[in-house]
Amino acid sequence: TEGISQPDQPETLEGGSKDLFSKFDDIIQMREGLLASGIEDPFNLVMEKVLSPTRAICNGRDTILLGTYNYMGMTFDPDVIDAGKQALADFGTGTTGSRVLNGTYQGHRECEEALKEFYAMDHAMVFSTGYLANLGIISTIAGKGDYIILDIDSHASIWDGCAMGNAEVVPFKHNDVEAMEKRLRRLPEDAGKLVILEGVYSMLGDVAPLKEMVAVAKKYGAMVLVDEAHSMGFIGENGRGVVEDAGVIDDVDFIIGTFSKSVGTVGGFCVSNHPKFEILRLVCRPYVFTASLPPSVVATAETSIRKLMHGHNKRAHLWENSKRLHKGLTQMGFELGTKEPQSAIVAVIMPDLEKGAMMWEALLKEGLYVNLARPPATPANMTLLRCSLCAEHSDEEVGTILGMFERAGKATGILGQTSDQSEG
Ligand code: PMP
Repeated sequence: TEGISQPDQPETLEGGSKDLFSKFDDIIQMREGLLASGIEDPFNLVMEKVLSPTRAICNGRDTILLGTYNYMGMTFDPDVIDAGKQALADFGTGTTGSRVLNGTYQGHRECEEALKEFYAMDHAMVFSTGYLANLGIISTIAGKGDYIILDIDSHASIWDGCAMGNAEVVPFKHNDVEAMEKRLRRLPEDAGKLVILEGVYSMLGDVAPLKEMVAVAKKYGAMVLVDEAHSMGFIGENGRGVVEDAGVIDDVDFIIGTFSKSVGTVGGFCVSNHPKFEILRLVCRPYVFTASLPPSVVATAETSIRKLMHGHNKRAHLWENSKRLHKGLTQMGFELGTKEPQSAIVAVIMPDLEKGAMMWEALLKEGLYVNLARPPATPANMTLLRCSLCAEHSDEEVGTILGMFERAGKATGILGQTSDQSEG
């Protein structure tokens, strides 16, 4: 993206009309300011070679990956890879069609069967991405005259689903049960209502109080949709997510998820017990008007989902990794997104974007990749270094990661020289 902006471009075009790109001037300037300091571009990293779920050659360096959402490390699982190769050989490279025309292969059905078993639910619908699953389900089920009550820190795909539909959107303060109830209390009793929550919020890695929230939603007769993108395969006895852990899986109407995190490929889905669920296949535009996933992708997803059903040991090791990283970083003096580790995401709060980018670069030079997250993706204008752990990170790697954070933190001045650096 070098040369992304043309600073000498005139504000108006021939004939006096406004350049449609003038709305991007602020972000162009912010980006140029950052790059002018000589920093490596945090949004233009290239993985030249991927060695395993936890290691890659990035910008020429051997790098530990700590920002990939590859929670269960399924991307290099030999059974998953074999299933993908077989499907590629047997069914070709792509379906070239919509699920409702020529794009439903045996593999799409088998993948939906695996999801139904994984969640012990009656229906499963596979979309081409998780983004499309949220866009499709939300905009289709909540229409004119209905209300969507949602957490203000919801993922962009949820907000976009709301924007695409015609329902009235009522946001409430992040993870605040009382604020949610106050909104619900004011809505017309007989109106259709959809409460949208996430199991794990991806910016700070915090978990929603689903037990209380689902009870309140039911009290007001609302249907409940929970996006479990960041908990599938990891949280809950069987990896079904925070809904399982909180004991409310039978009370939620829809679970949305993605194949792009624990499952290790690409795709999205919705599972439900609603008796009329199957009609969505005909009326949900982001399901109908796009091509279905390639056969190799659904084959890898199905195999991965079936293996995740038996992932107890991996789940236990991932928890150990998350707890150790959280504790080590806290003891060094970093400010984290949550007081206690609540998920496989550990967010390190940076003082500002400039310092955040410096720290990000210092870590990359140490050989560690994390996500740099900034507004508007982050809550409260925060700049975050988001770490997501993997069940395949070894104990040794977690130790190495902590050492890298300590050196980079000192080099950038983000860690005070006097703070306690013991890992404990
Ligand atoms: N929901 C949440 C909470 C997410 O974080 C994401 C992706 N980061 C998605 C949905 C979209 O998933 P996908 O990558 O499959 O489009």
